[in-house]
Amino acid sequence: MTAKLVQAWTDIDPKDAKEIDLTRDLHISAPLNEMGERCPWPWEPQQLVGAPIGQFHCSYCGAMVMAGMPHIDYAPDERVLTPENLTSIFEWCEPSKM
Ligand SMILES: [Zn+2]
Repeated sequence: MTAKLVQAWTDIDPKDAKEIDLTRDLHISAPLNEMGERCPWPWEPQQLVGAPIGQFHCSYCGAMVMAGMPHIDYAPDERVLTPENLTSIFEWCEPSKM
């Protein structure tokens, strides 16, 4: 059995996540708030199905989330430079291709 490098937080049931702190456990993915910080415990919003509160601030990371929906991920889109996509973006921007 090969362990996946990173487990998706959405694959974990809230009742199995009680001891998890995603700011410390980097083997599990985490949604980011508007500041680009990992949410320590993103399972709260999805458990509020039917709660009449609509949008609210996640009490763990402060991100604006929707009650009854999975925690919103404010991760930047792929056009933001990372070490992984630097080369492809550089090629895409190359003047000779314009
Ligand atoms: Zn959060």
